Amino acid sequence: WFLAKKYGLLERIFREKPIYVRAVDNVNITVERALTTALVGESGSGKTTLGRLLTTLETPTSGRIFFNNVDVTSLKGHELKRFRTRVQMVFQDPYSSLDPRMRVRDIIAEPLVARGIKGSELSERVFKIMEEVGLEQSLAERRPSDLSGGQRQRVAVARAVISNPEFIVLDEPTSALDVSTQSQVLNLLAELQERHKLTYLLITHNISVARYLSDKIMVMYMGKVVESGDTLNVLKEPQHPYTQALIESIPDIGKRDLKPPSGEVGSLINPPPGCRFHPRCPFAMDICRREEPPMIEVKNGIYVACWLYAKR
Ligand code: SF4
Repeated sequence: WFLAKKYGLLERIFREKPIYVRAVDNVNITVERALTTALVGESGSGKTTLGRLLTTLETPTSGRIFFNNVDVTSLKGHELKRFRTRVQMVFQDPYSSLDPRMRVRDIIAEPLVARGIKGSELSERVFKIMEEVGLEQSLAERRPSDLSGGQRQRVAVARAVISNPEFIVLDEPTSALDVSTQSQVLNLLAELQERHKLTYLLITHNISVARYLSDKIMVMYMGKVVESGDTLNVLKEPQHPYTQALIESIPDIGKRDLKPPSGEVGSLINPPPGCRFHPRCPFAMDICRREEPPMIEVKNGIYVACWLYAKR
């Protein structure tokens, strides 16, 4: 059972005259229900844009997005509003994603208020979710500035979960937190997923976070997916030279953030022809500089876009 049986080849071009930036380029992504799919890659790889496309916060320039087999790409008005009650986002920075003027209880209640819920039902649901995410009820009247970073991210998680969504995009949910708080928030996210059968899209540059929380992983480079498969298989035996470089550059995979391989990421305004990774790839061949590699299954459900594996 898939949350989205099949997304079309998604593309998102940002136009800032006279510049066009293809932030997401011909991506085909399937997010499976009640599992976590991680999008990893360096900044500028297009992972946040892809997350925003799937929640309809961005509109694709071309391609379609299906949710439970329904095309949500061009929903409008009431239907769009209804779809958005089923998806939520948790952002990286709990310091800027919460309105500093609002009380904790009002922040958490927002998605329910938007659906017309009020009075005792509203209060009961706010206090119930606060308990579930480990926030003491005494914090309900406080403002975000009175809370620690971990408590603020729990508020953001409570706000995302209170309306019983099916799909949550977690955009670097722990990268603004210290290490011990990170693991508490990750445990909380895992518990909530188990209890509510939530589907997560996890956007992260931290490979240990992806390894802890995700079942599937997609590695992105300059707007394209270069490798995808089961997280443990991909991390154990990465096939694409870019994924290999990412993993090899982390001496202790359990502790360190994902470090970029050597060389500069190219410009999305004028991306390299052929394989976009070729200027940094130690295995680059002539064909890599000319033609884009197709995505093929290499083994165990691992898909790779690389001429090393494709028939020429
Ligand atoms: Fe390297 Fe060529 Fe594979 Fe690109 S297609 S990753 S340049 S070997």
